Amino acid sequence: QAEVLKEVKDKPAITADGKRVTLFANISSAEDLDMVHDNGGEGVGLFRTEMLFMDRDTFPDEEEQFGFYKKAVLQAKGKPIIIRTIDIGGDKHLSYFNLLPELNPFLGYRAIRISLDQEGLFMVQLKAILRASAFGPVSIMFPMISNVKEIRDAKLVLNKAKTALIEAGIAFSDDVKVGMMIEIPSAAVTADILAKEVDFFSIGTNDLCQYTLAVDRMNEKITHLYDPFNPGVLRLILNVIEQGREHNIHVGMCGEMASDPLATLLLLGMGLAEFSMSAASIPTIKNIMINNTEVRAKQVCRQVMAMDSSDKIIAYLKEITQ
Ligand code: PEP
Ligand code: MG
Repeated sequence: QAEVLKEVKDKPAITADGKRVTLFANISSAEDLDMVHDNGGEGVGLFRTEMLFMDRDTFPDEEEQFGFYKKAVLQAKGKPIIIRTIDIGGDKHLSYFNLLPELNPFLGYRAIRISLDQEGLFMVQLKAILRASAFGPVSIMFPMISNVKEIRDAKLVLNKAKTALIEAGIAFSDDVKVGMMIEIPSAAVTADILAKEVDFFSIGTNDLCQYTLAVDRMNEKITHLYDPFNPGVLRLILNVIEQGREHNIHVGMCGEMASDPLATLLLLGMGLAEFSMSAASIPTIKNIMINNTEVRAKQVCRQVMAMDSSDKIIAYLKEITQ
């Protein structure tokens, strides 16, 4: 098996009947990019920027952030890279940023909510990311969008950041794509509305599962309820992919489900265009794609979407994924 995976590593991800799929990697620093290249990753579908903000005493300033993003862009060697703005709160805290204790931190002050509330900090990050775009293909992605106002407000701040850079005569690319994570059920259900606001969606199944099923993703007592194959979760995912296609925007997935071999055919059959995962998983997922057809994946999708329980769905997917 190891030999087979080595062989597929540098092949493009194309099904036996010619459907081309993009395989990206999730990273949290420039250092992760060696692994991405080694495993045949075609780019970065999710650059989690939190690492730069953790384990220190103050917020990194614009220069330091710019250095961090630019390093990753250069290390990506011309491959596209989607940089996600800060996603702190929930379980991720910063010693120097006073997040008050909350009864439900995952339902509280986190991610884009903090960025929109602290516009000064948000501007610094956006300017730093924009500046990095002068060195390679960069997209910006906003986490935890729950309604259309948040994405519009985030884009307004992004435009302010662009204006500030232009006025200061600082270079950035004029082709920075803007996308959002779909990881809250309201966003998945209103994908048709949100699609008009962005260039791409990336489905965050880790949080989407948590919020759809009301299951804390960190609580070990209820891990058996944390289930991406719940028909409710699958319907949301399918809706996002279909609405993306309808409105002509690119749809990827950067949650853990994208690296689950049991889910590969199903997601392919739903029409998912881009799978983003830890670099080490890429060859396994690519191997499944190369050895299957889109026609079969669509059949699998039809079967699964007609089933009434995740037990049946998982049993069926196990049977056909041999
Ligand atoms: C997700 O929620 O699926 C996701 C990719 O974001 P994170 O795991 O960083 O919350
Ligand atoms: Mg998330």
